[in-house]
Amino acid sequence: MTYDIAIIGAGPAGCLFARQIARTGKKILLVDGQNNKNRKPCGGLLAPDAQKIFAELDLTLPGSVLVSPQIFSVKVTDLESGFVAHYQRHYLNMDRYAFDRYLLSQVPETVNIVEGRCSGIKRENGLFSVTVGETVYTAVYLVGADGAGSMVRKTFIGGKMPHFTAIQQFFNAEGDENPYYSCIFDSKTSPSCSWTMFKNGSLIYGGCFPTEGSREAFERQKKRFEKFIGRELGEPTRTEACLVCNPKRFRDFKTGADNVFLIGEAAGFISSSSFEGFSSAFSSALSLADAFSRYGDSSKAVLRSYKRLTLRLRLKLWLKILKRKVICSPFLRRIIMKSGVSAIKMR
Ligand SMILES: Cc1cc2nc3c(=O)[nH]c(=O)nc-3n(C[C@H](O)[C@H](O)[C@H](O)COP(=O)(O)OP(=O)(O)OC[C@H]3O[C@@H](n4cnc5c(N)ncnc54)[C@H](O)[C@@H]3O)c2cc1C
Repeated sequence: MTYDIAIIGAGPAGCLFARQIARTGKKILLVDGQNNKNRKPCGGLLAPDAQKIFAELDLTLPGSVLVSPQIFSVKVTDLESGFVAHYQRHYLNMDRYAFDRYLLSQVPETVNIVEGRCSGIKRENGLFSVTVGETVYTAVYLVGADGAGSMVRKTFIGGKMPHFTAIQQFFNAEGDENPYYSCIFDSKTSPSCSWTMFKNGSLIYGGCFPTEGSREAFERQKKRFEKFIGRELGEPTRTEACLVCNPKRFRDFKTGADNVFLIGEAAGFISSSSFEGFSSAFSSALSLADAFSRYGDSSKAVLRSYKRLTLRLRLKLWLKILKRKVICSPFLRRIIMKSGVSAIKMR
């Protein structure tokens, strides 16, 4: 059987696209490369923009996806100057893997979900061959929803996407009486930002670093953070790492070409200032599903429509690139933090 669309990757973008496009009656293949042992490292915070898309789709979130504690602010910490400021936030604190599994459960049964990593993709006689394990599937259209290191993007679209390496460690925090969410800046060890957060008795320390020397920079920064808070975090119970897109120019956002479409982080759709990516994954998935619903018979028209529908998103993410230049500049960040603009007064 030849599928109309093969989707590589069952993260937030792939699952939502599969859920929406299945309604058009097309034959869909969804390749799910994630499993309990191969989980996506993530902060698992659902931001208001992503919550709004859930509301628009009349979707709810089961309590089993949420973790403790829920948070109301972020404590921004500048390790170099020692400045600390609190800002109100409206995130939902979730178990990322449970969230992905919930999104997968929303994909209708008409979609053929194949478990396993796609190990090869080729274009042959105008169709795409997708290899998963021993099986080769064919499809007319290919959708890359395979995240930061996208094989689909590398194979068919090209263009170098800048990346950071994200590293996270988990520490036992059972009984910690003051769990909080923090965003940490330290230009001595990273041009980007790091974070701490609490999930069901674990403290997570993570951050984004230039790939070369990332582990060494992470360890150096962790030591500087421990000195700042006046205690050691202890032995990590788990360490995880992955690539994260670091778009630097408008042209780093790619929508697709020649029957290949990119959604979510595969397209470079992520906020380079906060690394919030769920809302962009959802929004691009919905835009592509809308484009297919309107122009499903013409690949060029689908791509044109998809480009148009994601223009606002791409401009918004481009503005985040500018925002990052401001907040990651030690001088400008200190002025903002010192001014107290939009900070909350702690009692
Ligand atoms: C450390 C870290 C913390 C983050 N914290 C947050 C946060 O708190 N809130 C937020 O909104 N965003 C956060 N992000 C960003 C967010 O995780 C991503 O932007 C978002 O998950 C993108 O969704 P996606 O579906 O495009 O890609 P992904 O979530 O990366 O999903 C891609 C899927 O494709 C699969 N895949 C990849 N290659 C293959 C293959 N060859 N075959 C089969 N399957 C494949 C992967 O297994 C994965 O399931 C964070 C990112 C990182 C790295």
